Formats: sequence, structure tokens, C-alpha cells
Amino acid sequence: MLSPARNLESLKKLNRLNVLNIVREQSPISRQELCGVTRLTPAAMTGIVRELTDQGYLEEMGLGESNGGRRPVKLRFRPDAGYVVGVEIARQKTVIGLTDLQSRPVLTRELPLDMSDPLTGWAELMPAMRRIVTETGIREEKVLGAGFVFPGLIDKHTKVLKRAPNLGGAWRDLPVNEWLERDVHVPVFIENNSNAAALAEYVLGQGKETKDLAYINLGEGLGSGIILGGRLVLGSSGYAGEFGHLVLIEDGPLCNCGNKGCLESMYAVPALVRKVNNELPLCQDDDPLKKLFLAQGEVGITDVLSTARRGGPYSRQVIEQAGRYIGLGVANLINFYNPALVSLGGILSEAGDLLLEPLIEAVGHHAFPEMVRSTKIQISGLGKEAGFYGACVGAIEQLFDPEKGGILLV
Ligand SMILES: [Zn+2]
Repeated sequence: MLSPARNLESLKKLNRLNVLNIVREQSPISRQELCGVTRLTPAAMTGIVRELTDQGYLEEMGLGESNGGRRPVKLRFRPDAGYVVGVEIARQKTVIGLTDLQSRPVLTRELPLDMSDPLTGWAELMPAMRRIVTETGIREEKVLGAGFVFPGLIDKHTKVLKRAPNLGGAWRDLPVNEWLERDVHVPVFIENNSNAAALAEYVLGQGKETKDLAYINLGEGLGSGIILGGRLVLGSSGYAGEFGHLVLIEDGPLCNCGNKGCLESMYAVPALVRKVNNELPLCQDDDPLKKLFLAQGEVGITDVLSTARRGGPYSRQVIEQAGRYIGLGVANLINFYNPALVSLGGILSEAGDLLLEPLIEAVGHHAFPEMVRSTKIQISGLGKEAGFYGACVGAIEQLFDPEKGGILLV
């Protein structure tokens, strides 16, 4: 049991964090208003506000409206009191950057690191991250936390990465939590990349108006993150949301998860690109994508997207088909979770309405009409960096969460 003095000390820290969190959410706010919300005495509040101001978390700003007496001084949170590093790891393009404590970006970089081998990839990632922090000119002690997100299964209890087929076969049972503890000397948030993107959508993006949403990442894999009642749905181990592995065809194409006929084995970007390159030799020579294929020898997803935008018939057909099939998956997801918003991100979402229209049509055919009517399906506004922002949002939430330690509780 804690001694009475230790108890008092931890109660003081909790009060400090509580006040800081209220100011973060309700800036600008006066000391009097804070006393009203927290039921702390004006004397206690004066002390707490002084401490938080000295530490750089709060500052005074102008005067508020008077209720007859002296006009109260308003306080606000200082997002530049600290920074977090966010890292979204992918096989060939890792995004590293920093944001302030309100998730406003300072710098983001997409680095062509080869992460297919975990150990050699990691050995390049760590110095790259330090270089980027140095480049921002932010002092090391101002970096308060970090978020690392991976396209794979993360055990929510141990934070061990169990499997990440989209990074490579060697990404199995890796103690990334221990690596991070060894190499990154601030509290680290570790999460699946689509879960993190859902969190970013919820806190920064279109999710601001709802507590029930799904984010679907249409990229190297087809991942999803689901938020219900304002909380990420993790499942018993933390693996929930494997949208891409909904089985659509019994005994269909082999998926890199080891199963057959998963949505991802046909409509994730690598599968789509393979299909396109296999089918193009049979296409009309005047099709714009075929012309690129003949000139380059092979085409990639950006070629498919750009020719589709210019009206290329084959590219449009490919995207429309992907939209219809992914729409089947979305219909299942809506029937399961009844979200108010389904937000689509990842490179394939850059096809915009060309993808969205057939997808929404498929949802209309296959989901319950009562649920379809109450679900908005949109392209996410967070773009390619949704996972990175999720890493930062998660790192920040962890810093201010009293249950997870909280920066002011250490
Ligand atoms: Zn699969």
C-alpha cells in the first residue's frame, strides 16, 4: 500500500493532469471555470496553473467576459510544449515525421527504406528517425513520445508483432516493444496501421461528428480500423479488423495470409497490378494504359489511376470492378457494425468517384437498407499520411491518459 504522503503526491499529479486535459479540450478557459468543473479550491487551482505554466503547458491569453466583477484571465494549452515522433512502417515506403501536441505536422518524410528484412530494416530506420528529429531543430528533451504503426497483427497485451505478411515473411513474433524500449527513450504507442488511421480519422478527420466509424485502408493490403462508441475495437488479442481477409471465393487465389480467396488476394494493390499486367497484352492497342504498358514494359498503380482519370476504358473497368468487390466487403462490415461513417484511404482511394460510385452501389445491394441509409461512405481527407497521423494521435493520447502513465505522472 502507498504511504499517505505518496497517496497525496499521486493525487496532486492526477489533479494536475486532469486540469491540463480540461484546458486542452476547452481552451480558452479561466481559473474560475476550471474550479467549477473540477471542484478544486481557488488556492489549489492557482498552484496547479502556476506549475503547468512554469512547465510550458499552459499560457495566459487576453481577458474573458466579466460577470460583473473583474474580467477573468483566460488560459490556453500550448501545443508547442512538446512534440511526438510518428512512424508508419511499410515494406518500401516508411513515413517518419513529427507533430506538436495538437497533431499539427512539423515535418514528414517518406523514405524508401527496404523493411522486408526486419533486422536490417530496423538498423536503417533508427538512424533515419534520429536524422529527421535533428533536421527539425527541435531539442531532444522536447520530444515527449513516439508512435510506431505496422501493417500487421500486434498483440494488445504484450505489444509483440505476431505477423505482418505485407512487410515480409520474416516479420513473425518480433518483440518490437523491446526494440523500441531499447532504441527510443520516450513512451511509445504501438498499433496496427489501419487501427491508427481510424484513430486519426476519429480525432482529426471526418470522424469528428460521430463516435462510430470504420476506416478502410486500400493499399498494399486491405486493412480496417473500427471505432465504436469512441473506442477502437481491438478484439480479445488486438487483431480485430482484418477486412482484407474476408473470404469472397472458396478456393480462390492464394492470399499472402496463407488462406485462399480473400478480398485482399484479388483487390489489394499488388494483386490488382499483377492482374492488370497479365491482362494488358490482350487489350486494345489504343487503350491509354496499354500504350504505357507497351512503352514501359509494365505498369504500376499510379499509371492505372492516371489513365483512369483521363478516361482510359480498361483502367476505369479495373477500378470499377475493384469498387464493386470491395463494396461487398464494406456491405458486410456495415451489416456487422452499423457505423455512421465508412472512410476510405490508401492509394486506391485516390481514384475518387470512379471507385466510390460502384462501391456505394454494391453496398446498396448487399447491406441492410436501414443501415445503408444511416451510413456515410467517403474518401478520407487524411490522404497518404493517415497512418502516420494515427501514430502521432496515439502517442499524444497515451501521454495525456492518466491510466497509461500520463506525462505529468512520471
Ligand atoms: Zn488473406
